Amino acid sequence: KRNNLNKLELSELDKKHYLHPTTPPRAHYLSGPSTIFTEGKGIYLKDIEGKERIDGVSMLWNVNLGYGNEELAEVAKQQMLKLSYSSSFSGQSNEPAILLAQKVASLAPGDLNVCFFTSGGSESNDTAFKLARFYWKVKGQPEKTKIISLEQSFHGVTVGATSATGIEGFNKFTTSNAPNFLTAAAHVLNAELGDKSDPNYSRSIRGIIESEGSDNIAAVILEPIQGAGGVRFPPDGYLQAVRKLCDEHNILLIADEVICGFGRTGKTFGVDNWNIVPDFLCVAKGISSGYAHLGAVIMREHVREAFIQSDEMMFHGFTYSGHPMACAVGLKTLEILERDQIVKNSRLRGEELLKGLKYLESNYKHITNIRGLGLLAGIELVKDPENGISFDPAVHAAALYTDICMDLGLQLRYFDWKGTNTVALAPPLIITSQQVEEIINRMSDAFKRFE
Ligand code: PLP
Repeated sequence: KRNNLNKLELSELDKKHYLHPTTPPRAHYLSGPSTIFTEGKGIYLKDIEGKERIDGVSMLWNVNLGYGNEELAEVAKQQMLKLSYSSSFSGQSNEPAILLAQKVASLAPGDLNVCFFTSGGSESNDTAFKLARFYWKVKGQPEKTKIISLEQSFHGVTVGATSATGIEGFNKFTTSNAPNFLTAAAHVLNAELGDKSDPNYSRSIRGIIESEGSDNIAAVILEPIQGAGGVRFPPDGYLQAVRKLCDEHNILLIADEVICGFGRTGKTFGVDNWNIVPDFLCVAKGISSGYAHLGAVIMREHVREAFIQSDEMMFHGFTYSGHPMACAVGLKTLEILERDQIVKNSRLRGEELLKGLKYLESNYKHITNIRGLGLLAGIELVKDPENGISFDPAVHAAALYTDICMDLGLQLRYFDWKGTNTVALAPPLIITSQQVEEIINRMSDAFKRFE
């Protein structure tokens, strides 16, 4: 019966029983699902009407190895049959979790050698906040609790992660957030380097450390490249400046690499582009390419060392921390990443994608501010780039353009916080040169219609 329902019947059931994440409930209740996906192979998706679409954003920046990967499906099946579940509480363990921890440690920079497993990005960030505070507690400085994050950041939707998130809609969704979260201006390099004449100085991480006192601050969290904030790159030198600032003030640095991790930016990790080593590195998404719910917090040796020295119990763990099937899928994902030189492909195809986007910029009027690294890219839509005139926010230009792309068989995402009409691209890292060209062609057709 399940497979025989048509689009209309499924839509009615969806409207009635399914409250969708990050979706306006009223509009959805009235109109039902925009797309019902039924199949995926490689970078291509199919919907219930049989219409094909290229996934130009790896769905939620996570399906890095594309759809329908038989090796990942097989390893999941075999692990489910062998040992479908086992707990990692009270010191119990399982082989896939142990081997994945070792593999992740071998890939992570510096002495980021110890893994705590979660089921996703929000859980990873919340875990990092708690472990950072635990670190200072066992070090005899329990008053170090505050977490500084950046404007326009996105760290997830659990209470801690949403409290750290700088995008206003998410941050203000409920009536209150967790205490001890502070928001700093993003990417104000000069202020972070100590320039007090910078108009953003008091709102910079440095300014906040000065006003709050480093004795109260546990950690700074940032995305190496902001994703949901609108694919926002830091100026060169920024990550190094923040790392130095944290070192000087005895504050831990958390890199949220939920999007950047495992090849998205053309290096294994986002921080590898700027050669810094955070104290915690949070991952999810690409670690299992969306085939299993998996995330991890990778921490440096000195962090784990503090935990060992204290002999305190760690009252933190999820039922699915170290889930054997998820970890087996993660291990296979990372094996494929290395074997098939996926990170290199991300870098090379990313260069081609950027070239293609620049071509669009020189051929169409409304596209500007092209930026990208590896297979993470963004473009901005403006009314009149020559005279710097933006679209009226009421026009929802990025949404309109994205809708046209969807219609022409290209799945993209848009972000229009604060009037920045950004369209994001993050195709699966397995993409070929010819498929990059297909994306550019479809975007070009969409611009013809948009103009
Ligand atoms: N951090 C970043 C940078 C993200 O982009 C996301 C999700 O998009 C998250 C955290 C939250 O991850 P999850 O949805 O797996 O909880």
